[in-house]
Amino acid sequence: AAKKAGKNCWRFYQAAMQAEAYERIRLTNSLRHAIDRGELLLYYQPQASIANGGITGFEALLRWNSPEYGAVSPDRFIPLAEQSGLIRPIGQWVLQEACKFARRLADRGWTNRKIAVNVSPHQIGADGFISVVRKALSDAGIKPGQLELEITENALIASLEDSISKLDELQAMGVQLSLDDFGTGYSSLTYLQRLPVNTLKIDKAFIDMILMDGAQKAIIGSIVDIAHIMGMTVVAEGVETQRQLSYLAQCRCDRIQGYLLSRPVPAAEAAVFPGTVNLSEL
Ligand code: C2E
Ligand code: MG
Ligand code: MG
Ligand code: MG
Repeated sequence: AAKKAGKNCWRFYQAAMQAEAYERIRLTNSLRHAIDRGELLLYYQPQASIANGGITGFEALLRWNSPEYGAVSPDRFIPLAEQSGLIRPIGQWVLQEACKFARRLADRGWTNRKIAVNVSPHQIGADGFISVVRKALSDAGIKPGQLELEITENALIASLEDSISKLDELQAMGVQLSLDDFGTGYSSLTYLQRLPVNTLKIDKAFIDMILMDGAQKAIIGSIVDIAHIMGMTVVAEGVETQRQLSYLAQCRCDRIQGYLLSRPVPAAEAAVFPGTVNLSEL
């Protein structure tokens, strides 16, 4: 009987795996047409300076409203886009769209507000990535300094030398670079020193530690100090409470991003976001 139950269990597992594989194929096929059908859009989440509450820029976050599947989370469809190669056309669309939004801000006088765009390793690795960035900047007519590219450390490890030379070239053009989800990967200090990044984004997992009793949260102050020594600006991701904000201020963290300040909002809302917010009143 035990053997039979084991067999049933295996069959159930197999069926579930097949269903998941089938679902992935259906989602990927639908994603293939998402750009043409206008199902993709960008939301923008503001970042603020802890020192004075000034809005320093926005992170562009991709949204997919599928008529068949509803709102699909980027954590679900970005991996599918990466596996299928669709990340290249999608990533190119995101860059174009985000630069157009930066243009819109510049037209309102916000030339110093940066738009951060998440880029996948597959995009950086692809031939012509730098031309894609150049074209997005020139089509929108914005300064390279208004664009910030967010990269993740794990992503780069695979082809470190090639990635570093491309990032160096982008930085030489004036494009800003930030290291996303810092602390979740194989971060080492030697490695950090080799990456040409202007900004370090501390992952939400560390920011969540502030609300716990343990001593681990002390690490945040050390990360901020080391980043500053290396000449980087530090952004805290996923800040949800005043308690987190005041701890981050104490750690001399430079900027915050998170629901405390604002959720990601549509372009129309982000375009009229105030210049400064009173952080203590959030
Ligand atoms: P990420 O780049 O680390 O983006 C931050 C994520 O945290 C976003 O999730 C954002 O909505 C969420 N978030 C921000 N503040 C808070 C907070 O206070 N609390 C909580 N619980 N969450 C917060 P989202 O938009 O679902 O994006 C998930 C991930 O998908 C992103 O993580 C990024 O890795 C990827 N992604 C999003 N858009 C793009 C894109 O255009 N290209 C690529 N390659 N990846 C993207
Ligand atoms: Mg990001
Ligand atoms: Mg992140
Ligand atoms: Mg993330």
